[in-house]
Amino acid sequence: MKRILLSLTAIFLSMICFSQTDQQIRKEIINNIGQHESLYRHFHQNPELSFEEYKTSDRLSTELQNLGFDISRKIGGNGFVGILRNGDGPVIMLRTDMDALPLEEKTGLPFSSNIEGVMHACGHDMHMTVWLGTAKVLTEMKESWKGTLIMVAQQAEEKSGGANAMIEDGLFKRFPVPDYALAYHVSSELEAGTIGYRSGAFFAGVNSVDIKVKGIGGHGARPHMAIDPVVLASRMVLAYQTISSREINPFQPSVVTVGSIHGGTVHNIIPDEVNMQLTVRFFDDAVYDEIIEALQRISKGIAQSAGLPESLYPEVKPKDHLTPPVVNDDQLTRDAVNSFISVLGEENLHEVDPQTVAEDFARYGRTEEKVPIAIFWLGSVSPTKFEAHKNMNMQLAHLHSPDFYPEFKPTYETGVLGMSKVVLDLFNR
Ligand SMILES: [Zn+2]
Ligand SMILES: [Zn+2]
Repeated sequence: MKRILLSLTAIFLSMICFSQTDQQIRKEIINNIGQHESLYRHFHQNPELSFEEYKTSDRLSTELQNLGFDISRKIGGNGFVGILRNGDGPVIMLRTDMDALPLEEKTGLPFSSNIEGVMHACGHDMHMTVWLGTAKVLTEMKESWKGTLIMVAQQAEEKSGGANAMIEDGLFKRFPVPDYALAYHVSSELEAGTIGYRSGAFFAGVNSVDIKVKGIGGHGARPHMAIDPVVLASRMVLAYQTISSREINPFQPSVVTVGSIHGGTVHNIIPDEVNMQLTVRFFDDAVYDEIIEALQRISKGIAQSAGLPESLYPEVKPKDHLTPPVVNDDQLTRDAVNSFISVLGEENLHEVDPQTVAEDFARYGRTEEKVPIAIFWLGSVSPTKFEAHKNMNMQLAHLHSPDFYPEFKPTYETGVLGMSKVVLDLFNR
């Protein structure tokens, strides 16, 4: 009986302890939300394109420096790193991106973009604000954890060069190697107040491929004297459709899309080349290799069958900047989900399907240091819009659309509360 009482007391004490931590985080959020909403509006009004995040990086790094972080600027271009050393303990990295998109804003918000043709339509303004809000909470609660917090702000997520630039500039050589790396991306499909998660492959790997189809040009009236690359390219486009459907294991999702095809000048000339641009998506490196091999084999086979000499075989060129799939670490994802549930409730956590969009956050988990990474969808749709969408099948503005914007208050609160709890729990394991 005594033992039961003792263990009940322990459970009760731990509940008080947890709720005190939660209450402290919530108190900080209430203290900071006004100031951070102004900052969010500032970022939204002053978007900068990939590789041009000069002012954004200035402002964000100053804000972080004011919290007491040790700042190193110009890591991989406009990227920067802020470090808060707080005794012996784990090293935890939180990442935000900073870039906007070449898009004319149509949200009608009073704080719409001031920059013509540039807009934060992917929520990176929200990422920065939640990231800073979390840093602020963790700074104010320094007594509650021990370890090193590394805040990483990267340029050019949209063009997928930012993460790599930071790594190549020595992110994991010049600064402590993280035991865990975490990030959010806002979701335009999940309601604000909720979080989406998935262990393992979450976002697709992506690469672009250029294909030059060569032929022998001639008069449009005398096709028998030419080898028509328009016909060859057409056959190739159709043959590529069998790569995902007939060659790749059906349990391995993949996409091969020919997004652009250009050749010729006028009606009656058979050109001597056609150029195609493809995007390929995959969740496993081996599948990517299979797709590229198939593109080469099929293209060459069709050229051969038309009787082209070897010197005129097609050129299949994958781009150099492949973005690997995002593979969320199982254990880290599980631990984070438990922490999220403890402050947000189980009903606000949703296990979601993988998506064929890409995120260069993947790269932080692909270096020789093998850092465990996990990224989560942060719901951002206003409850009113979400209800209308559910009940009346109303379309929601998707990421990269000129109408998209996150609902600030619940998105900020959920993002900061959730991530602060995840980080505190990891520090205190
Ligand atoms: Zn985007
Ligand atoms: Zn994005």
